[in-house]
Amino acid sequence: MHCSLIRTAVSARLDGEEPPPGITAQQLAAHLDTCATCRQWEARARALTEYIARLRDADTDPGGPDDPGAEAPDQPPRAF
Ligand SMILES: [Zn+2]
Repeated sequence: MHCSLIRTAVSARLDGEEPPPGITAQQLAAHLDTCATCRQWEARARALTEYIARLRDADTDPGGPDDPGAEAPDQPPRAF
């Protein structure tokens, strides 16, 4: 089993997608059990996926792009 195929499967699983053809969840788990490099890769990919999900959540607060003038400062009165 090639590490690159395992990483494709890990990435698909993190995205909620089907694993690539020719690899089962059992094979994936068995490989992660024996391959420290792929375990490390999976931990990083998971952290990155969670980080991106948090960024997306922060991006979707109400009042967003429809309201560009909301924070425009008041113009000071002209002195002349
Ligand atoms: Zn591996």
